[in-house]
This record gives sequence, structure tokens and C-alpha cells, in this order.
Amino acid sequence: EAFGGNRSSATEKVENLFLSVPNSKSALAHSREYATHPHVAGSKEDLEDAKVILKLFQDELGIPETSEVPLFPAGSVESRKSTLNIHKLTKPAAWIDQYYPVMNTAKEVALEILGTDGEPVWTADLVEDGDPKDPEAAKYHDSVPGWHGFSADGEVVGEVIYVNYGRKEDYDNLLSVGTNFTGKIVLARYGANFRGLKVEGAQIVGAAGVLIYSDPRDDGSVIVENGYKAYPDGPARNPTSIQRGSVQFLSKYPGDPTTPGYPAYENATRTDGDNIPKIPSIPISWANAQKLLLEIGNFSISRELTGATSSRKIKLVNHVDTKVTPIWNAMAVIPGHIKNETLIIGCHRDAWVMGAGDPTSGTVSLAEVVRGYGVLLKSGWRPLRNILIASWDAEEYGLVGSTEWGEDFSEWIQSNAVAYLNVDVSVSGSTFSVSASPSLAHLIHQTASDVPHPLDSKKTLWDATKDVGPYLGLADADFMALYEVDVERRASLTGVPALGSGSDFTVFLQRLGVASMDQGFSGGPTDAVWHYHSIYDSQHFQELYADPTFERHAAVGRNLGLLGLRLADSIILPLNTTQYALELDDYLDLVEAVTLSPFSKLRKSIHHLQKATAKLDIEKASAEKDFLEQLAKLPRKHSCNKSIFRRIIRWLKFAVDTKSGSRLDKFLKAAKRVQKANSKLVAFERGFISEGGIKDREWYKHLGVAPGKWLGYGATTLPALTEALTLDKNTTLAHHEAGRLTQLIDTLTNVLEA
Ligand code: GLU
Ligand code: CA
Ligand code: ZN
Ligand code: ZN
Repeated sequence: EAFGGNRSSATEKVENLFLSVPNSKSALAHSREYATHPHVAGSKEDLEDAKVILKLFQDELGIPETSEVPLFPAGSVESRKSTLNIHKLTKPAAWIDQYYPVMNTAKEVALEILGTDGEPVWTADLVEDGDPKDPEAAKYHDSVPGWHGFSADGEVVGEVIYVNYGRKEDYDNLLSVGTNFTGKIVLARYGANFRGLKVEGAQIVGAAGVLIYSDPRDDGSVIVENGYKAYPDGPARNPTSIQRGSVQFLSKYPGDPTTPGYPAYENATRTDGDNIPKIPSIPISWANAQKLLLEIGNFSISRELTGATSSRKIKLVNHVDTKVTPIWNAMAVIPGHIKNETLIIGCHRDAWVMGAGDPTSGTVSLAEVVRGYGVLLKSGWRPLRNILIASWDAEEYGLVGSTEWGEDFSEWIQSNAVAYLNVDVSVSGSTFSVSASPSLAHLIHQTASDVPHPLDSKKTLWDATKDVGPYLGLADADFMALYEVDVERRASLTGVPALGSGSDFTVFLQRLGVASMDQGFSGGPTDAVWHYHSIYDSQHFQELYADPTFERHAAVGRNLGLLGLRLADSIILPLNTTQYALELDDYLDLVEAVTLSPFSKLRKSIHHLQKATAKLDIEKASAEKDFLEQLAKLPRKHSCNKSIFRRIIRWLKFAVDTKSGSRLDKFLKAAKRVQKANSKLVAFERGFISEGGIKDREWYKHLGVAPGKWLGYGATTLPALTEALTLDKNTTLAHHEAGRLTQLIDTLTNVLEA
């Protein structure tokens, strides 16, 4: 933040020109183009869409189209070169990388209640109704089966038992009252944790199969308790809606199950994959779930966790086709002046059905960024650092496209990437929220305060973090008071919580140690219910409820693009490592709250690190000042009026070509100081990467933050240490983990002080 004030007028011009480009009209047009057909990863529509995005990159960034589409098999010379030779580029480039993960599609899903004779007495429809007023939802309502990505093939018959959210504590509670899960089919509601972990928990306790349903209780009490009509007639949940989704055991490792830690090339040596279920599961609608709850006799409002089972048996059928399936990441690069520093921006492109919110809204916002950068390029701008833009594939199956690329280019990423900016769902409701590495919190607070609010010209985008949905009219006053307290609580400190998992930042942050961020508008309890991973995540819904003016889509594009510009163009990287170092104290407070023995050595190391970041703050400010002064002292005749960066480059070139004078020497020395400060800023997040990784899930190497082992989406800070106490309940292990962390932090402190 301290460096925000030093923006030159040239930089301001670039930013203002960029901000003038993203608009709701273009966002709406792109959304209508991208969101009106299904595009499951690996399908032919998905490949077509990859080409459409490639063409967008080419058209907007001024890349000539070639007669053949630049589609390269991962691992091929062309694919390797596309990324590894970014430092050689003088003009923007774009291509498609094709990876070969193992994925599945549904062949047959069925659910029946069986009579005593074993014959079905009820058969679930397992299909969403569609919407006669919405041409796409009507046309495609049964085009993509309701099934779980990476689910196991199988047919099981057993009694059904209700397990609430299927969290670790839910299974533990049921075990503690003597529940025997063997041969049972568990019925879990969506919410609270990642769905794959519900299945993992069921498998561990010995269940035979899993059904996961959407419970209106989790849609927010305002909508549910006030009698709003169900979508499409109103904003409440359509009872036939089904939430598809991956049931990968995400906490073990994401990406292709058969190539953990290395890229899924066509000829890769493959493992069996131990991050996917062995028992079958299917997602079901509320309409179907009610029938099963009645069977258990557990249809009270509280739907208590009794351990009661149905007296009749049910049959679950899940036949899937599991095979190597090509996927396509569409990539583009804008080369910068500095060759070995790259900012990465990405959004996935695949969707379970049409995915107007997930992820088309994000793709649309990213398209606005690309258009904006295209206009800048035409005006003669060139970023200081390289900008790499990615349209990831197969995120829905388990972050596959981004993870495989990250595993493929791990060394390059670790020595080049300065930050990763993710967007996934950019709009599904009214409340703007962000999650990020603590070092990026101030930057996003600043950009979101510089970007106008999408709907109220007197406010900023940051103000939209307190926005609520329109269904306040009948909201219960006590409820809203509580809700507002919660919004306030989240907004305390920086208002930027840590990243867990569930989207494409995971490989960058949690395996490679790249500072990362995610952002978007989502719905709260006073918004229309968003039908996640359902046919109703449609263009029609976006236009009717989530963003009728499409201004939110444009606002996220402006913010994302502005973040990109500040990260790519600032002389000193806008990473606030002091904020990060200070938050480590809070992380440790959380750990010490659950134990009687404090971790005083670790605490001391954190305090040393804080001193080192404070020194780095002084050094980076002084390096930047020195740099600008030396730059200003260079003789006028060699300067270029267009931008400060052109001048730097001219002079760096001049230094190589001619005998250097003393003024030039001073300038180059200043440039080196800047470079060194920047490499320390980048080293900060990298410093949390431990080769050994987190115990029992070594793919995750960041000891500062990980997806909670039994949460998935939610972050657990100081994960190895925290989980040693909370899950293993092992103080010796905790002290061992604290020792590893202390060592890591001491090494990082030395790097910063070098
Ligand atoms: N975002 C997708 C989901 O929540 C995929 C997450 C994952 O597999 O990590 O279903
Ligand atoms: Ca892999
Ligand atoms: Zn998504
Ligand atoms: Zn999704």
C-alpha cells in the first residue's frame, strides 16, 4: 500500500485506459455465447470452446491466426517450448495444451426403493425438470446425467442411513452411539464440506454407497421460511435440481488421479489413483431425498442424527465409463520487459452443464481483462513483467487442467511466477468477497477501492463486500442482525481470509508456493438460490437474478485487470509480506488455543521473521526511490517519452551496447537492488514450501496453509501442526511439526536478511 502513492502519471494513464474497456454489454454478449450449451470437460463442445477462447486471445491480443490450430499434446516439444520459451517472446502468443487425465462419464444411474420381494416399489427419476420459459434449460435438462465426477462404478443394495453433512464429526457421532455402517447406504446433505470428503468418510466407516442431496435448509432461512416460490417461478430452490460434482478425495491430492505429482502426458506411467472413491455415489434432488427421509422415518424439521435406518432396502446403481480423456488448457502470454518474472491469471472453462455462473461468469470477466489488455497493447503499452493467461479445463473433476500444467512446469513456475490470480464464479449473487495470501490483501483492498461499485456510483467495489440480496422484505430482523454481525466479523482485520481449495489456485499456492488470490460475487441468505452445478445455473438465471445488468461481471473484470496491471507493472511488487508475517502470529494463536503447551520457539521465529520483513519494507522503499532518482538523472536525449519502462529498457540496452558512464552504473546498481527486493518478496510465499509436505498428504507442500483435511473448501492455517493436535491428538507429533515450521521460518528469515 505504501507504494500506491508513487504511481506515475504514465501508469495512471495506462490504468485509466484499461478501466475504460470492460463493460456490461460485452460481458452479456460473451455470456450468451458461452453459457447457452453444455460443456463438460473432455466433450467435443469443450474442445470447441477451447478454440473459441484461443481465437479471443488471438483477436484481442493481436496474434495472427495460423492455418493450423496451435494445439499441442502435453510433453511434446511444441508444448514444452510454449511455456519454457516465454522469455524469448517479443510479441503475444497463444496456444492450447492437451493433457491426458483419466476421467469418467455416466452410463447409467438409478435409485430404487425395494419391496420385501426385492422388486422396486419406487424408482427415482434422477432428472431435473428444466424450465419451459428458458429455451436452453428446456432443451438440455436431461443432456448431462446427475452423477458424480470420479465416482466409483457399482450397484449396491442396503438400508439407508441419514448422516447429516457427512462431516468427520457426523460419522464420529454416529460411531459413538454404536452405529454399524457395514452394507449401509448413507444419505448426506450437501454443504459444510467438500462432497468428496463425505464419500471418503463413508468409505472409511465401511458404508456401501452414498447419496448426497440438496437440502433447502441450507439455502438460507430468509428464502425458505418466507414462502417464496421455487425457481423458475420464484427465487427459492427448484426441488428437482441436482448438484453434480467431483467426489475426488481432494485433501489427498488434486488433478489426474493416475499421475500424482507429475504431468498426465499420453504415455505417462500411471498409478491406480488413490484419491478417488471405491464405493459408488450419486447426487439426488430434494424431491427424491424426501422419499428416502420418509423411509427412515426421519422427516422432522430437525432431521436428527439418530442412526435409524430404513426398514426397506434401497438400490443404488452407478455405472460409469472411466478412461483416459484428453482435455484442453487454452493459454496466452503477453511478454513483458523483465523476462524472468511472470504474473499468471486464470479461470476454468469446463462446466457440469451450461455453467452460466460456474465458470462462465469468471470466463466472461477474464475476457473483459483480455479485451482491456488488447486495447493497451494497441496503444503501445507493454507490461514490465510477462502476463500469462489461462483458460483451464477439467477444473470440475478436481482442478485437473491447472494441476497438470502446474506439475508439468513446476520448476519454471517456481523460478518465474510472481503471483497467481484466480477467478472461478465471478457472479452468482450480491456479495463481493475475496480470499488470498495475506501478502495480497492490501493490494486487493486498494484495487477494489479504486474500482467503482457495479450498481451505485457513490460506492466502490470494496463496499460491495457488505452488499446483501434483494429478498429483505420479509427477512426476520433478528436473523438479519446476526447476519450483519457475521459480515462485520469477516470484514475485520483485512477482510481477506486465507485460501482453502476448490478451485485452480491450489497447485500454485499449496504445492508451488505462489502467492494467490480468488474473488467473485456470491449469494447470501437474501439472494435468489443459485443452483450450483445444475441445469438451472443458466444464462436465464443470471439475467433474471444474479446480475440483471451484467455490471457485476464487468466490475470483476475491471478489478482483476487492475490487479494484474499493478502486479505486472509496479517497479516494486505490491506484495505486503509484513501483513503476512503479522498474520502468522494469529495463526499460531489459533493453534495455541487448543493446547496447554505453547510453541515458544516457533513464536520467537515468527517474531524474527517480522523483523526481517520490516527491514525489507525499508529496503524496498529505498530501492525504489533510488531507482527513480537514478532514472531521472539519466541524460534526457536517451529517454523515451512514452513510458518510464521504455526508458529503463532503452537504458539497459544502452548499458550493454556502449561504454557505461558512472551515471549509468548507478542506475544499473539501483535496478539490481529493485530486482533483489522483488525476488525476496516472491521468496516469502515460496518459503513455506517444505519438500516433505504435509504428513499423509505429501502432495500438499505449503506448511502455512492447506485445504482442511476434512473441510476441502475451507482453509486450515499451519495445517500440519494444527491437524497434529486437532485430528491426531498427538502432542509429540505437534512439537515435531512445530520444529519443521520453525526451521522453515528461520531459513526464510535468513533469505530475507541476506
Ligand atoms: N470446484 C469444483 C467443486 O467444488 C472442483 C473442486 C475440486 O475438485 O477440488 O466441485
Ligand atoms: Ca498429475
Ligand atoms: Zn468453478
Ligand atoms: Zn464447479
